[in-house]
Amino acid sequence: MRFSEEFLDELKSRVDIEELIGRYVEIQYRGSTRPKCLCPFHSEKTASFYIYPENWSFYCYGCGVGGSGITFIQRIENLSFTEAVRLLCERAGMTMPDDTADDEAVRLRRRCYEANREAARFFYSALRTPAAAPAAAYIKKRGLSPETVQKFGLGYAPDSWDALTKHMLSKGFTALELEAFNLARRSSRGSYIDVFRNRLMIPIVDLRNNVVAFGGRVLDDSKPKYVNTSDTVVYKKGDAIYALNLAKNEKGRTLILCEGYMDVISMHQAGFPNAVAALGTAFTQAQVNLLSRYCDELYLSFDADEAGQKATARAMRMLQNAPMKVRVLQLSGGKDPDEIIKTEGAGGIQKIIKAAPNEIEYQLGLAQKKYDLLTADGKDSFLREAAGILSGVSSPVTRDVYITKLATDLGTDKNALRTEVDKRRQRFVKNETKERFRQDADRAAGRDSHIPNPERARHLRAAKAEETILTSLLLNPDYYKRFSSRLSPADFVTEVNRKLYEGLTRRIAEGRSIELTAFAAGQPDDTVNMLSYLNANRANIAGTPKEYEDCIRTLLAEKQKLELEKSADSMTDEEFLRRLEAVRRRKNVKSGQGS
Ligand SMILES: [Zn+2]
Repeated sequence: MRFSEEFLDELKSRVDIEELIGRYVEIQYRGSTRPKCLCPFHSEKTASFYIYPENWSFYCYGCGVGGSGITFIQRIENLSFTEAVRLLCERAGMTMPDDTADDEAVRLRRRCYEANREAARFFYSALRTPAAAPAAAYIKKRGLSPETVQKFGLGYAPDSWDALTKHMLSKGFTALELEAFNLARRSSRGSYIDVFRNRLMIPIVDLRNNVVAFGGRVLDDSKPKYVNTSDTVVYKKGDAIYALNLAKNEKGRTLILCEGYMDVISMHQAGFPNAVAALGTAFTQAQVNLLSRYCDELYLSFDADEAGQKATARAMRMLQNAPMKVRVLQLSGGKDPDEIIKTEGAGGIQKIIKAAPNEIEYQLGLAQKKYDLLTADGKDSFLREAAGILSGVSSPVTRDVYITKLATDLGTDKNALRTEVDKRRQRFVKNETKERFRQDADRAAGRDSHIPNPERARHLRAAKAEETILTSLLLNPDYYKRFSSRLSPADFVTEVNRKLYEGLTRRIAEGRSIELTAFAAGQPDDTVNMLSYLNANRANIAGTPKEYEDCIRTLLAEKQKLELEKSADSMTDEEFLRRLEAVRRRKNVKSGQGS
């Protein structure tokens, strides 16, 4: 729906953007003239996410994401524009304008939440019928208490083709909706049948307590062990963390990341309410970002088997730049958390948590396993690998601790080991410095990777002129009328900037505000990011009519050059050179550099 500019202004004045962002990430005020924080949308260890209270916006110089306070809520809570406004309204104690005009996407999402909630209720009551005997037996076998079953809302999908479908149709949902929400599918005979049949049902609940999906576990040894909701309008499995809705309220900002639903449920029952699981086959960046909002220390608790070890290694790589400490729970003897709880009780897990190695210790342990330390060769190879691992540690104190420990454990000369580590450390630092130099050079050459315009490096001159034109327009909307006869969207070289120019000028022509908050509604992400970047850097341009005109000239010349290049194939060499010369001459005369 469309909100009036007065309404959005009111919302902005009631919501303090620093306070808003500060609810999700810790804002740093030291060493910077403006508030900044670690970006919640990409992993980083030093802050490049800046807040601009003066125009109620933010921009990240690391990943190029930006927008207004509403955009921030859209991204961090995964909401549509209208839903984000509704949430901000609730928090600010404002009444939402008449929302009967909700757009189709919002309506569909709401239907999906309602359908999932109804299905969860259906499964939950089905678990209390005699037909659910196999599920009840499974719950008993796993030793789950009635409180646990209730806490996680576990249920049962009856052993029937269409029990849920019939129920949902009777509640007013359409077959097409059920199909779209992945609760029913069309059979080969054309009738609608349940997706989940004869399974223990585990509802997946998001951070605002909406049921967004289900995991369904078989009750015997048949395959597949799990059937999960595929992606829908409210659920993307690579984005979700199971049980984070429960664990996020635990104090201590420590989370235990388990392999699957059942591990999490067992851990909660055993007294570890901070256990969660990453849903989907591969651990994703979106999941890392989500976890880092709620924890400073993460324990990885994957099975001790080979697949579990691979998952641990992959998770550690993903977590390399995340602003949290990582430790690994070593579940000995091929066990999973459930088995340990059964045989040793919660104390068994507690012991493993206490003994959990950090990243360095874990990697050293893995390296050690590869070699026979009783032979001179084995010891030598291990020490070289260990030196490689330690060379990546930035703190000299920490390096020294491990050098001393390794030397003592292996009965080897501490100084020799230190020399080896130092040598590799130098190489490591050199490579890092080279990388930093390369990045600096890129920045100087205008190849700033964060600037949300993929064509920028290829058409640098044109892109920079476009940026100045757009920024100038933000500062002086009246330039549009003054210069509109000289510059049309078609003159733009890069796509992102053209779309932005089109959007801004259309609004100016309609007499509407081009301020970020109002403009961003319904705009694609890249346009909003670009506008936020320009807003954040508006102090860097003069904003004069002369500058604007100069940029129009540069842009038109660049555009002409490009078109000439494109048509060069169809011209004779002579013709091409003649036209090139003409372009050059025109450009020089116009920019006052001609002789
Ligand atoms: Zn970022």
